[in-house]
Parts: sequence; C-alpha cells; structure tokens
Amino acid sequence: MTTPNPAIVLISEHHVDTLLDEFGRYARDYDLYPATSLKEALGNTREVLDRGGQVAMFVTESVLPDAEVHLAFHKLREKVPTARRVIAAHWERFLTDGPGLRAGMATGKYDAYLLMPRGVRDEEFHNAITDLLSDWGSTVPDPEVVSVKIISPARDQLTLAIRDFLDRMAMPSRVWEPDSEAGRYVLDLYDGEPDYPLVYALNRPPIVARSVRDVAINIYGAPTELDLDHVVDVAVVGAGPAGLAAAVYSASEGLSTVVLEAEAVGGQAGTSSMIRNYLGFPRGISGMRLAQRARNQAIRFGTRFYTGQVVDELRPGSNGDPHVLCTESGEVRAKSVVIASGVAYRKLRVDPIEELVGMGVYYGAAMTAAREMENQDVFVVGGGNSAGQASVHLARWARSVTILIRRPDLAETMSAYLVGEIKYNRRISVRTCTAVVDGGGDGRLEWLGLEDVNTGERDTVPAYGLFLLLGAEPHCDWIPPAVTRDDHGFVLTGRDVPRDRWVDGLPPENLATTVPGIFAAGDVRAGSMKRVASASGEGASVVPLVHSFLAPASD
Ligand SMILES: Cc1cc2nc3c(=O)[nH]c(=O)nc-3n(C[C@H](O)[C@H](O)[C@H](O)COP(=O)(O)OP(=O)(O)OC[C@H]3O[C@@H](n4cnc5c(N)ncnc54)[C@H](O)[C@@H]3O)c2cc1C
Repeated sequence: MTTPNPAIVLISEHHVDTLLDEFGRYARDYDLYPATSLKEALGNTREVLDRGGQVAMFVTESVLPDAEVHLAFHKLREKVPTARRVIAAHWERFLTDGPGLRAGMATGKYDAYLLMPRGVRDEEFHNAITDLLSDWGSTVPDPEVVSVKIISPARDQLTLAIRDFLDRMAMPSRVWEPDSEAGRYVLDLYDGEPDYPLVYALNRPPIVARSVRDVAINIYGAPTELDLDHVVDVAVVGAGPAGLAAAVYSASEGLSTVVLEAEAVGGQAGTSSMIRNYLGFPRGISGMRLAQRARNQAIRFGTRFYTGQVVDELRPGSNGDPHVLCTESGEVRAKSVVIASGVAYRKLRVDPIEELVGMGVYYGAAMTAAREMENQDVFVVGGGNSAGQASVHLARWARSVTILIRRPDLAETMSAYLVGEIKYNRRISVRTCTAVVDGGGDGRLEWLGLEDVNTGERDTVPAYGLFLLLGAEPHCDWIPPAVTRDDHGFVLTGRDVPRDRWVDGLPPENLATTVPGIFAAGDVRAGSMKRVASASGEGASVVPLVHSFLAPASD
C-alpha cells in the first residue's frame, strides 16, 4: 500500500474554487481537500487521520459560515496541532477584517495572514505557502527525502543527539533498524565490524559514530584541514547570530575567516521554533532556517565553518604572534578573535535529574526531542520567554505541558503575548510556587518529585519529558584571565572595562576586550541586549574594529 500524500484542507464558503485553483500547483505532492464550512473541514480532517494520513496545512477564509475564524483554528488545532494554519482573506474583506485578525498572528493563533491571489503567478503568496510547508516538513518524524541515514537498534541518547544536530544543520535524517532494508543496505557499505549508531551521510562511506563530533567531522571536516602554519585574519568562536554576522561581514570584506562552533550552527536562536521579532520577517522565521541562510551567506563569501568543535582554550598571542584556539581536533591560529560564544542554560543541580539528561531530561527545547513527546505528559521549568516558546512548541506533540515556576505569577517574567498564547492553549497549564526536587525512572525519566516552595509539601507526578530553561550564564570557561569579565562571567568590553585596565587613560574600543585583537559580540558580552537582532548587529559592528586592528590607519 502506498503512503497517502499529506493533506492541505482549503476552507471557504464562497471562494473555495479560487483556493482549489491556486493550490492546484501543489496537487502532485499534497492531497487537496476543499470544504465550505468548519464542519466539513473537521470531517475531512477526521477522514485523513482515520486512514493514517497527515494534515500539513489548513487554509481558511477570514470569515466562515459556522464559526469565528479564531475558534475554527482552535478546533482544527485540537485535531492536528502540527499543521500550519493560514488565513487567505478574500480581497473584498482584506481591509475590513485585517486589523481585527492580524493580532492573532502575533500571538501564534495562526501562522500567516495572506491576501487570496487575484490572478495567476502570485509568487508572494506561494512563497509564504511553500515556506510554511517546508517548516511543516521539518517537523515530520520520518521525512521523505533524507540526506543522512542513521542505523541504530535503539533511540538512545547519542542517536537522538545526532538527529538533533542534523536537524539544526537542516540535514533531514531518519533512523532505521539494522534489519530493515535501509539498514542492510548501509551495513553492506560499511567496511568493518558494525556497531551503532552507524551513520551514512551524503554518500560518504558510513561511520560508526561515538559522538556528535564524529558526525560533524565526517560531514564538515575538522580544523586539522588547515595548514598548521596558516594564520587566518579572523577566528570566530560560536556560530549563533553574533558569530554568523561577524563571519558574513568579515568574509565579505575580504578577511580570511574561520568559525569554530561547539554544536550546530545557530546557537540559541537555532533552537527557537519561531523568531517573530527579527527585522524583515513579518511572518516570523524559524531559528534553524535563519541560521542556515546566514551560514550559506557566509560560506558564499569564503568563510570556513567547523561545527561540533569546542574551543577548549584560547592562548592570546603577544608581540605580534597569532592567537591560538585549541580544539580536540586541532588548533587554529588567528590574527584576531571574535568571542561570540553566547550563553547556556543554568543547571538545575538536582543530582537524579542531571543523571537523566538526554533520557527524557533536556536543557533547552531540543527540537528533535519535542517530536518524541507525542501524546505524553511533559514539564517545562522556567518562567522566561524561552520557556514560553518551548511550551508552545512542545504542545504541538505532547498531550499536556505543565510549566513549573517558583514565582506566584508568570506575567512577572514572560512577555504578555506569550502569556496570552499559553492561556489560549488548552494543552498547557502553569503550576506556580513549585520546584523540581527529585526525579527518576527505569533508564529514562518516568516521574518527578515536586515541592511547594511555600509549604514544603511534596508530591510525585508521572512525567515523560522535562525541559529545563532556567535562565542563562555565559559560555566562558575557555576564556583566559587576560580577557576581563564581570562577576557573572560576561566579557567586558569598551568603557565597561575597569579603569585600571585602560591604556594611556583610554578604554578599549566599543566591542574590544582587554586583549588587543580579541573582541566580543552578542550575549556573551556584559550589558548585551540578549536578542537576535542585537547579537547580529554586534557581530556586524565588530568587523570595522577588526579591520582597523589588522591594518591601523597611518597618521
Ligand atoms: C528558545 C529561545 C528562543 C528565543 N527567541 C528569541 C526571539 O524570538 N527573538 C529574539 O530576539 N531573541 C530570541 N532568543 C534570544 C536569542 O536567540 C539570543 O539572544 C541570540 O541567539 C544570542 O546570539 P549569540 O550569537 O550572542 O549567542 P548564542 O546564540 O548563544 O550562540 C553562541 C554559540 O557559541 C557556541 N559556543 C559556546 N562556547 C563555545 C566554545 N567554547 N567553542 C565553540 N563554540 C562555542 C554555542 O554552541 C552557540 O552555538 C531566544 C533564545 C532561546 C533560547
């Protein structure tokens, strides 16, 4: 039996033929279901789900005969939380309905508010539709087209971590059992004693992966490729928005540029399912997509990226010697360094929970882990915006998401739009004045011990997933003492540097640290704004400073 195509459900009382005509170009890859009311659309949806199919998208007019449009999305979302939701307003109603409906997009009630095409080849409309379908495609557990085949008998911690890395690098992957057809095919190609996970990427000889780094090196190479005597103009540590922007601007201005990234490209932003406030993306953009576009842009200008490479040490050069960055796979020598290593989540420091990291317990909202939470009860610890975004993302799959906070109210720490979105989502609830004090399970998380922070009362709840988003501390254990930092570990730059480290009564330049030729940008910098736009702005702004350091203007 062939697998049915994913469905697109088109809902309009009077213009469903227009929609059907417009979506005709997708009919090869998706099954189109026209409906003239919410009731009919729900019937179509049930039919698709009953025969084991998937709904990729709901497209509806701004007015429906039997339900207000937000309520309609609410009902459709209850049936299929993963489908993308689009309003295609008929042009007769666009101006009148728009102001009332647009607010719903900002709060995530639906994904796009578009004008129904007025004629053929409305590519702006189709651009939005294909972007959303592509976003939907990246959330499908088993994508149709894969770049990397993983052969593994178990969905263990390493297999999951490799998939998470590949997802964040926009490399679709899929896991097969060793005795499946794909498994046998890859095992036949493997030249050695087979072990798992066995990773077959982009037609390269398969490798047995012992770490995510092995996979990263297999696909993207290692710094050992660089000639040891070679000194690059700029080495960027971290490929979040700050590092990516520094790479694009530095390479585009002709400086030889290398980026070393401990995990996947994108940093914290890359783990965000939807960035809604980045300039120029009115419908929002997934962090992974933004990061991969920036990476491609930087590569186009000649940047070399090494992912899965933790910088363990930075040895500042003196008397004109290059700075040396050390990784387990080799060293990079650079005339200048941009520290863009961002921040990482604070640890919970409850021992039984720390032991289950990767086995139901995750720091950050691992996108891949979210998919594994289908129909499960999951918990999110944290009251900030990243906890809010993670909860909304998890609620696409999980049966219930409970946000745990120590404070009595979420509104103190989370943006109003997210608080509203959470209130609206029936799968998400908030448990206030609560701390996680214990947890356990047989090989993976199965239960949590919770404590009321006011009364000390404890109870135990079944839990399949725990996502810890506890606020941030800088990634800085590798930064040498010569680079001055504040009490929390953030790197000091410009006038924030203590006066006793100023030279000739002058502070370092704006984004310059206390070591000549070493700069800092983004969240790792003391006083930074902790946003994608500010991090990328600082990454771009650091480049003129690097330029003048490398080639000082002669007086
Ligand atoms: C879930 C989530 C959602 C968010 N949503 C939004 C949003 O909607 N809008 C918004 O404006 N902001 C948002 N933010 C905040 C935003 O993502 C950050 O402010 C931004 O990513 C900071 O960029 P950065 O480059 O300074 O650091 P990061 O993004 O933290 O990137 C730093 C990178 O450096 C790497 N690194 C660290 N140490 C080393 C080392 N020793 N060697 C090599 N590499 C290293 C890390 O692996 C990481 O990839 C969100 C954050 C999160 C977590």
